Parts: sequence; structure tokens; C-alpha cells
Amino acid sequence: MASESVLDKKLSLKDLVSSEALSHMAREFAELHNIGIRIFDEEGQNLADATTDSGEFCSAVFAIPSGRQACSSAVSRLTNGPLLPDENTSPLLPEIPSPTPPLAFSCHTGLRYLLLPISIDGDVLGRIVFGPFLPEQLAHRHSDKEFHLDGDLAQLTKLFGKIETASEPKLLRILLHFSSILRLLISSGQRAFFASSMHVETTLEHARELENQNHKLLQMNEQLRELDRLKSSFLATVSHELRTPLTSILGYSEMLSDGLAGPMNMEQSEYVATILERSQSLLGLISSMLDITQIEAGKVHMNFEPISLGELVRVSLASVRPWVAKKKIMLTAHLPADSNAVGDKERLKQVLINLLTNAIKFTLPQGKISVVLTEKEYQSELKAPGYRLWVEDTGIGIPKDQLDNVFRSFFQVDSSSTREFGGTGLGLAIVKGFVEGHGGVVRVLSDSNQGSRFTLVLPAVPPHEEMEIPPPVSISSLSERF
Ligand code: ADP
Repeated sequence: MASESVLDKKLSLKDLVSSEALSHMAREFAELHNIGIRIFDEEGQNLADATTDSGEFCSAVFAIPSGRQACSSAVSRLTNGPLLPDENTSPLLPEIPSPTPPLAFSCHTGLRYLLLPISIDGDVLGRIVFGPFLPEQLAHRHSDKEFHLDGDLAQLTKLFGKIETASEPKLLRILLHFSSILRLLISSGQRAFFASSMHVETTLEHARELENQNHKLLQMNEQLRELDRLKSSFLATVSHELRTPLTSILGYSEMLSDGLAGPMNMEQSEYVATILERSQSLLGLISSMLDITQIEAGKVHMNFEPISLGELVRVSLASVRPWVAKKKIMLTAHLPADSNAVGDKERLKQVLINLLTNAIKFTLPQGKISVVLTEKEYQSELKAPGYRLWVEDTGIGIPKDQLDNVFRSFFQVDSSSTREFGGTGLGLAIVKGFVEGHGGVVRVLSDSNQGSRFTLVLPAVPPHEEMEIPPPVSISSLSERF
């Protein structure tokens, strides 16, 4: 909802001049010219009040019931009544021209007040009231009866006599002078108010813009989430649907290569071997896609059981040894005698194979890979006893500024179509998901051409039966790739 601009706000006297400044000015003038001065805003609220000697007489009048009534109606006429002449007021012809004419008002006791509107650019902001005072020409006039009151008239007359007389034309000049100083104060207040209003307006405008952008971002975020859900469900369906026919292709190829459908010549055997090899890697890819969709959906269930981590490392090394030999890579392993733990055997084996496959893939022939598993000891990161297991290679390494990204699904440091190493960018996201599913953490140390070291910190016993796996970040990397 668009909020009202501060520039559309109607200005009040209080916004433009501080009440301290108004009171100070009224007090100074009142003392200097011996006249009561009051300033009211357009709602009749008193902003400055400087009274003088006439106070004693007025208090005595106010103490008489009929006087109080008359005083109240006089005050109300002065503070809230019309600013144009009416039957109770008379316009004064100032010697100095003024945009709004001053008025004179006589109260029932004969005392006089001068009333002048405070207006700026045609807007009335309030009024100045001078008085009460006893005009020189009326000083002689007073007798007891002229107060129109039924109280102690002798006392009233005495107090009335104390009020000094004043020249109305002179007071009028003082009032106009007072008014012009006040106008100066108001215009400088107006400038300051507009400057600060503009500032507030700009800040508000920025805040409104930010609010709009935030709203749009939230909407986009929701759309991206929806797309991500669709992508995961699409991947899960496609992977599942592909796996069934692929299993048949693998089964029939194995039967053919085992000679169950009759003998094959050399060429036919080679073809079938290729079909088998490609189908195996396709199955690997499909399994990775299924794993990542399950991790993203938070649906991974670990099958924890007693295991030997050293034994798992040996089995995993055995499955990659032919490839290591083919690339003439030197592979070493340091394993402790005892490495008992609780974990999901299949998931951890896959973690190791993913790390070893990467190490082999990104290490040039004649390079080195070492696998180290420490003894069981207290792991401060986990605040529990556990193992550290690292796979280190002397391969091409990962640029430092990309290290935070490698665990995101579908991320590859070099994603160009001319990339010489295969892969999907899912291996490390799966490693992270499965290790966190054990309550562990994965760390990477690497830099371009400096080799890489991937370290797993695993608790000896997972802290919970079921671990929540935070879904890997994948949306932006997906959009980078497709
Ligand atoms: P991929 O299937 O592409 O290997 P991964 O998720 O396993 O996917 O790895 C993501 C990316 O991290 C790889 O594409 C590669 O750029 C980088 N990477 C992973 N392991 C290594 C390593 N040992 N040496 C150099 N780069 C690596």
C-alpha cells in the first residue's frame, strides 16, 4: 500500500517553530512592552503564554460566577472565534499594511485585546493575542457599574485602577512588529522542515523500493523452489523409469557374454563387452541421480550396523585398482589395526568410491594418491570420538575460490563441453549428504595445480538413529549449466 508523502502533509505552527522559541519571544516582548502575549495554533491550542500585571484583576473577575462565564466566552472568542470582524470585534486600520487585518476585541469589563492571524502562503497557522490592556481613551470612563458584575465592586475597581493604560496604536505597531519577526522564524522553520521532509521522503521512497524488490525476490524464490521440486520429481521419475529397462539390458548382455545364447565370435564379444561397460556407467549415473533426489527430498534412510572402516577402505580400493593401474598412479593406504564403528556400509562405500574416482580422474598418469584412516580419537568438530579419513592426490587441484561450490549438486569446476573428464557433478553432493547422514562433516583443502585433500570426520557411532540431511544447494548451479 502506498503511504502518504510527507510533502502532502499540512504544516502546523508546531512543525515549523519550536514552542520554546515561541515562548521565549513572547516573554521578551511582553516584558519589554508590558503587555500580555499569547500565541495559539489553528486548533486553539496555546503554544506560548506571557502574562502581565492585569492578571490580578482578571483573577478577581474570574472568581465571580457571572465573571467566570463572561471570561470563558471572551477567551473562547479570542482563541477559537472567527479571524474576520464580527459584532464583537472591530477591524483596525494599521499604519503598516498587513495581509490579514488585525482586530480589536473588548471584553465585558472594558479591557481590550488585539488579535492578529498568523498566515503563510494563504494558510492560517494560528493567531497572536495581545492583551488585556486599558486603552488610554477609556481610562477615565470606569465607574463600578461598568464591569456588569455582581461581586465586590470596590475591590474590582481598586485592582482595575492598578492596570496601566496603553496606547492602542502603539500596541498595534508592536503587534505588527512581533508578527513580522514571527513570520521570519516561520519561513526559516519552513525551509528546514522541507529540507528534512525531502530527506525523509527520499529515505521512505528507498524503503518502499526495497520493500517492492524484496516482495519480488520472495516471489521468485518461491517460483525457484517450485521449479526445484519439479526438477527433483522429474529426475526421480526419469531415473526410476530408466533403471528398469537398463537392468534388462545388463542382464541380457551378461547372458550373451557368458555364452548362454550360444557362442559368439570375437567381434560380437567385443560389441557385447562395450554394451556392458556403457550400461554399467549409465546405471552408475542413474543411481547417482536417484541418490541426490532422495537427499534433496530428505528421504535418505541410513541402515546403521557395526562396520570396520578399514575393511571398507580396502574393499573400495580393490574396486578402483584396475583403473589406478591403467593410469600408472601410485596408490598407498595407511589403515589402523582397529577401526570399528557404526555406519551404513553401502553408503560409506559409495562415499569412498566417489572420492577415489575423483582422485583418479583428476590426477595425471604417474601421479600419487594416498588414503589415510586415523585411530579412533576425540574429534572436536563433532564433540565425540570418531575417525578422520582423507583421500589425497597430486592432481590438477581446485581453484581456492571454487572450494565452497564443489559440494553443490551438478557443480563442476570446468563445465565446458570440451571438458576432458567425464562426470555429472553429483559425486561430492552425495558424499556430503551421506557423511552428514552419519553426523559427520567433509572438508576440502586444495588449490590449482596443488593437488587436493578431501577429509571425512566421522563419529564412531552416529549420534542419532536418523540424521537430518540438509538439502544441497542446486538451483543456481543448475541454471549455470542448462
Ligand atoms: P564430477 O562427477 O564432475 O566428478 P563431483 O561432484 O564428484 O562431480 O565433483 C565436482 C567437481 O569438483 C568436479 O567436476 C571437479 O571439478 C572438482 N573435483 C572433485 N574432486 C576433485 C579432485 N580430486 N581434484 C580436482 N578436482 C576435483
